[in-house]
Amino acid sequence: MNIKVVCRRRISRFLITGVIGLAASLTVQGQGSPLSLNQAGEVLPIETTLTAQERAMVAWVDERKQSIITELSAHVDINTGTANIEGIDRYRTVLEQELAALGFTTETHSSVPIDVLTCEGGQVLVADHLTGVIRGGDGPRVLINGHMDTVFSATDEFQSLQISDDGVLKGPGVADMKGGIVVMLNALRALSDQGLLEGSNLTVLFNSDEEIGSLGSRSLIESLAGKHDIGLVFEGTYGSRVTRARKGLGQARLKVTGRESHAGGAHQDGVSANLELAHKIIEIEGLTDYAKKLTVNTGVMNGGEKRNTVPGCADAYVDMRFPAEQGGEYLKAEIERIANNTHTSHPQYPGLPRTESWAVLHRPSKPQHAEVDKLISEAMGISILVGEPITGTRYSGGGTDGSIAQGVGLPTMDSLGLDGTGAHSSREASSINSLIERTKLAAILLARQLHEK
Ligand SMILES: [Zn+2]
Repeated sequence: MNIKVVCRRRISRFLITGVIGLAASLTVQGQGSPLSLNQAGEVLPIETTLTAQERAMVAWVDERKQSIITELSAHVDINTGTANIEGIDRYRTVLEQELAALGFTTETHSSVPIDVLTCEGGQVLVADHLTGVIRGGDGPRVLINGHMDTVFSATDEFQSLQISDDGVLKGPGVADMKGGIVVMLNALRALSDQGLLEGSNLTVLFNSDEEIGSLGSRSLIESLAGKHDIGLVFEGTYGSRVTRARKGLGQARLKVTGRESHAGGAHQDGVSANLELAHKIIEIEGLTDYAKKLTVNTGVMNGGEKRNTVPGCADAYVDMRFPAEQGGEYLKAEIERIANNTHTSHPQYPGLPRTESWAVLHRPSKPQHAEVDKLISEAMGISILVGEPITGTRYSGGGTDGSIAQGVGLPTMDSLGLDGTGAHSSREASSINSLIERTKLAAILLARQLHEK
């Protein structure tokens, strides 16, 4: 790769936005997008102008403002909690029709059920995933990704889009990430209107299980990532800042089997699964080390059924976060060690309590990446021109499917969706401005990636 480095001091023409002022900056022109960094290594917006074709796409989006809002409302109204297979099936049919109308060749991909280690046992069923493919020419191969599922179940009270007079959009998945999907679809339509989908190499992936860690779609994401050059994920942003790097994520389950017995009449014949699990949870929680950016969280624990019975089964569901894979491997190994370390003993019942464990690092960490920095720099520059400027970057403790794609080598920018607040809660909200301006940004950025000069 030929890289030309130009170092200069300049007065930013973007001063009016307050994004950057007088800045000693470094502009790197390499393969693909240009990149602008300041001396602290922070990503700055590149200086850019819009072509006539890009301005036409901006106008296309402006003319369809009302229909884009109406489309978001229709998407939000379909409940797609991860466990709502019927709801996701219905939503996937809508998306499949939209992609087919744009000339994509669509395909559904099934996922095997996921065994769950709990006292109740059973499996988690995952709805089918959807891909759409357009192939042509020898330009860069771009993979764009969004997840259909939300954290809101079919019985949740938070089910539809509310639009207030001041342009606030409130609803389940408005930012995470029905809004991102509507941005993506309308960006594709704007490209199609300009004839820019023809002769491009683009794959769209809609998966159905992101909110449970993409346990069923991971292999599909990884195999697609290996066949593309650039990845764009339409997860939301927060505080007008896009994510530059992310922690890795893991999850673990523990199931402790004891022996049920009457709490009054035969207490000595019981083996308390709750007591054993409690010891283990204290040990597991002790693994959190803020200085090393390692955290564990026992988000769910269950044990026993009746006050007056020594509990015969208890389970826990643990979350792990780590800045690099080594930290994740350490946490996983420690949780397995703790699972195998029995704290309570009952000589009359050898082998009890018995603990089973399961752990997986389901999202690798997503470190800074020069190609991703270039995309961010370009997106920031474009966003200043189209509205709702991206004002900076952040390091996130949360993962996305972009982490999986980049983990197998696909440089992926992962926060091209709506700027929102309150994700995963009944306060989830974004704005009409974000919906519309992010659509323009997505159209321009995508067109530039697909038809790289
Ligand atoms: Zn999401």
